[in-house]
Amino acid sequence: MKKTKSGLVFCKVCDAVYYKKSWHRNLRHYKNLKENLAVKFSLCPACAMIKNRQFEGEIIIKNIPIKIKSDLINLAKTFAARAYQRDPMDRLIAIKENEEGLRITTTENQLAVKLAKKIKETFKKVEMKISYSPAPSDVVYVKLVFSH
Ligand SMILES: [Zn+2]
Repeated sequence: MKKTKSGLVFCKVCDAVYYKKSWHRNLRHYKNLKENLAVKFSLCPACAMIKNRQFEGEIIIKNIPIKIKSDLINLAKTFAARAYQRDPMDRLIAIKENEEGLRITTTENQLAVKLAKKIKETFKKVEMKISYSPAPSDVVYVKLVFSH
């Protein structure tokens, strides 16, 4: 993900604020509000990625047993919500259903890898294949196939 310049930057779309070299969920923990800082409005990297219809992580899940499908979707949402609490740039972009299963996209490649591992660990009987796209791109594609 691209690094942003110094100063205070508010995202125009979400609540994220950039200060002290990284993006935060909001200004709650910002201690130096009296400082005369340059303020800018821009898109945070996660919102920019979503706007440009890009993603850094993709998980394709196939052959999902019907009885666990909603649990799986809930797990993905909860996992991503927790990741977002830690880092507002870690986001679930979408969970889409198709005839073959689910496609989950995220703004961070490591979030997709961690979520895929969590799914495998939780539901067992899942085969996982991870492939990274060639540099300079850092997109990761994860395939999960349930065997049952
Ligand atoms: Zn944003």
